[in-house]
Amino acid sequence: MSAHSLPESTHLWHGLEVEKALEMLDSDANSGLTSQEVEQRRQKYGLNELEENGGRSPWQILLDQFTNIMLLMLIAVALISGFLDLLALTGGTLKPGEVPFKDTIAIMAIVILNGILGYVQESRAEKALAALKKLSSPSVRVLRDGKLGDVAAKELVPGDVMLLEAGVQIAADGRLIEQSNLQVRESALTGEAEAVNKQAILTLPEDAPLGDRLNSVFQGTEVLQGRAKVLVTDTGMRTELGKIAAMLQSVDGEPTPLQQRMTQLGNVLVSGSLILVAIVVGGGLIHDLTKGIGWKNLQELVEVSLSMAVAVVPEGLPAVITVTLALGTQRMVKHHALIRKLPAVETLGSVTTICSDKTGTLTQNKMVVQSVYTNNSTFRVTGEGYTPIGDFQLNGEKASLDECPEISALLVSCAVCNDAVLQQQQGVWAILGDPTEGALVTLAGKAGIEQDQWSSKLPRVAEFPFSSERKRMSVICQLEAVATGDTSLTAIDPAIAGFVESEQYLMFTKGSPELTLERCTKIHLGNHSIPISDEHRSQILVANDQMAGKGLRVLGFAYKPLAEVPPDGSEDTSEVDLVWLGLVGMLDAPRPEVRAAVQECRHAGIRPIMITGDHQLTAQAIAIDLGIAQEGDRVLTGKELQLLSDQELETQVDLVSIYARVSPEHKLRIVQALQRRGRFVAMTGDGVNDAPALKQADIGIAMGITGTDVSKEASDMILLDDNFATIVAATKEGRVVYTNIRRFIKYILGSNIGEVLTIAAAPLLGLGGVPLSPLQILWMNLVTDGLPALALAVEPPEPDVMQRPPFSPRESIFARGLGSYMIRIGIVFAVITIILMEWAYHHSHAAGYQGHEDTWKTMVFTSLCLAQMGHAIAIRSNNRLTIEMNPFSNPFVLGSVIVTTILQLMLIYVPPLQSFFGTHALSLQELAICIGFSALMFVWIEGEKIFFRFMGKKSV
Ligand code: ATP
Repeated sequence: MSAHSLPESTHLWHGLEVEKALEMLDSDANSGLTSQEVEQRRQKYGLNELEENGGRSPWQILLDQFTNIMLLMLIAVALISGFLDLLALTGGTLKPGEVPFKDTIAIMAIVILNGILGYVQESRAEKALAALKKLSSPSVRVLRDGKLGDVAAKELVPGDVMLLEAGVQIAADGRLIEQSNLQVRESALTGEAEAVNKQAILTLPEDAPLGDRLNSVFQGTEVLQGRAKVLVTDTGMRTELGKIAAMLQSVDGEPTPLQQRMTQLGNVLVSGSLILVAIVVGGGLIHDLTKGIGWKNLQELVEVSLSMAVAVVPEGLPAVITVTLALGTQRMVKHHALIRKLPAVETLGSVTTICSDKTGTLTQNKMVVQSVYTNNSTFRVTGEGYTPIGDFQLNGEKASLDECPEISALLVSCAVCNDAVLQQQQGVWAILGDPTEGALVTLAGKAGIEQDQWSSKLPRVAEFPFSSERKRMSVICQLEAVATGDTSLTAIDPAIAGFVESEQYLMFTKGSPELTLERCTKIHLGNHSIPISDEHRSQILVANDQMAGKGLRVLGFAYKPLAEVPPDGSEDTSEVDLVWLGLVGMLDAPRPEVRAAVQECRHAGIRPIMITGDHQLTAQAIAIDLGIAQEGDRVLTGKELQLLSDQELETQVDLVSIYARVSPEHKLRIVQALQRRGRFVAMTGDGVNDAPALKQADIGIAMGITGTDVSKEASDMILLDDNFATIVAATKEGRVVYTNIRRFIKYILGSNIGEVLTIAAAPLLGLGGVPLSPLQILWMNLVTDGLPALALAVEPPEPDVMQRPPFSPRESIFARGLGSYMIRIGIVFAVITIILMEWAYHHSHAAGYQGHEDTWKTMVFTSLCLAQMGHAIAIRSNNRLTIEMNPFSNPFVLGSVIVTTILQLMLIYVPPLQSFFGTHALSLQELAICIGFSALMFVWIEGEKIFFRFMGKKSV
């Protein structure tokens, strides 16, 4: 059957035998499709993608913009203001030249603009997150043109042969061709949390419900255990998941802690301003009534309160926050840290403890075997990387392996008990698969033992796959070739000679040396296996400790002849009575940049902790080398941890920096214990069983290269380069983002408080009229506050950002002086402006004065705006004086100050703008007075810095 006559609609694949399904899809279980067929099918079926329709609908996002209490207050102000204008219009009391409903229109325009802006930003953020998710979308191992390779999940086509292993999220629907111990979690599809055991050989009734289709796998489900070869039957929207696309996981749109705090802040501001309005209006009325003035000033009081209500709302703030977070994620991607959940950007800055895996994160995960130990001899192995060229040396001399039957048997085991493939890519030797296993194939290759050759001589018939809990794996191979007397098997022939006649199979096991040795009852010496003595055991363990003490990763090897293939799931009872072969020690050098990153952590008050499945001595040697621990520091092993109660563990977690031979479930206990001690924990993980610990951690970090899809799905952040130093860089970015957010909150809200107090003061001082119209206030909040605030959002890190302890993520938004700063600066702002207002008012009304009598209002408006410019420049640093800083290190602040000042001057001097904003041209002298008064703001803040420096206080 050719590709174009492939079945159109989903067949009931589970009702077919494997061969039939392969035939129908015109595919081959051993070589897969050809590239040409893949191309044809892609044309026909399209990409393997789902049309996402999760998340909030656009209408929902838009509606959400108007449910904010501050916007509701603005709408109320617009309506009341419109009502007043209507009264004035019908009553004929409108001032000459005044445009009716101007404020109402402006406020409503701002409300709508804010809504649209919020909508655009939120849907952008959702799209960006969706794109980030796609970036982290998994690749799939497929067999094409007879070769194994990794392709993006979207490239799969029906007929492809894909390989699955533990931790993979299945990328398409398929019919099993073969499997080993395959367990799949199908909860995404069936809601059933229990793992399902799958079997290729079954043929099922056509009406079998989804949950019972045990010979098929489905897109979106997860492999928990085992391995499988699968024929892809359906892709894209034709998969079972595609059919119920509405069930797709929606993009996480949860508000960040900061957004939640901003909502709270909004509530405080609104209620605070309502109280203030009540005081001003109530106080004013009582004053008027007791003085016998009556209700004459009521309208003015209402106008004052409307202006105050507008003044208190920081209209520009939500936009600045979203932009800052979005820019933060972009900068982090540049540092190879992919944020999956927005809250992670700001919470990263609060991390106090980083729990990191060793292999690949602290080390390079480029394994090279250095030593082989067997029959009491330690061989040194030369050679570099994965190139299978090198020598075996014994006591400094090149050794002849023919004279050493034990090592040959061990090397065959290295080649056969292995899932990695060694390939030459553009002349360079590289591995496909786990580097630990790659190093073993390379090792065997150095002795001329080629994986391909041996795999066909000893075909694999079953296996017990590796898992981090078991810390070992076994493969069961058929011995028919040996039985027929294939002489090329001399290397292991003697080793198995005694079993050949009666036994058909050979099981090779490799794993953590201690655990493997525990399961051995014999040892392979010379050409025989003899019972293993206690002396043998202690010699092996001493050799293991010596290798591990040098920081080598050590694996133990054993074998066992078998009469029949053990059933799936019988690993515990089958992997016993093994025959010990030897040890292999490989070097995994630390990443060069990690030492400096660990130092940086220490200065920043962040404690790095190593949590590894490796041997305690290996872990210790590397941790000491990297500066994570010191000589003599306690190492806690998984076994010891198991014996500790949760309370006991809690007393240990602050003391221990190395956890060795741990299993994924221990990671969860360690995170929980640290959290109970009040630590804010970032935790790395890559395996399928790391997911609970990643979810529990305050920041769950998955590995981009070696991480399983399941761990990525559970994480907040993905390390694209698997590098510890990237976590530290992201933490630094997190701190910068949070510091900048606090900076512009101080900047914006300080000015809002100043505005409110100034407006409230006007009637109390008995000045006729409201100094600032709602329109002018909106201008200040959006433009004169908004533009510099955006520039402050990209302020580069202060030099000491990683020299101070982390801040608690649970601290109030007003903590560390933010609240007192806002109030203090708000008052200073108001005092300066009120003095100016008082002077300008009397100056404008002075007899004989030529200017407009309302000029004082323009002067108040101008000086408030200009004062904010000085504020923006001074607030760039909390402690450094402006003259100590490079003005061009953040050119945006300088630029925004210049642009905003020009805009402000245009508002005063350009006639159409004058009439719209209700301003009057100021004389040069008046402008100079405004500049003089507003400069006081800058002087005050710089003075504060000098004062705090003098007092030895550092503000952060
Ligand atoms: P980390 O958690 O720091 O990444 P790790 O990679 O050493 O540590 P695991 O991969 O869980 O952790 O490995 C734990 C132990 O299992 C190793 O120390 C080794 O003894 C054994 N091991 C690792 N890989 C294999 C493998 N492919 N086959 C058999 N045993 C293995």
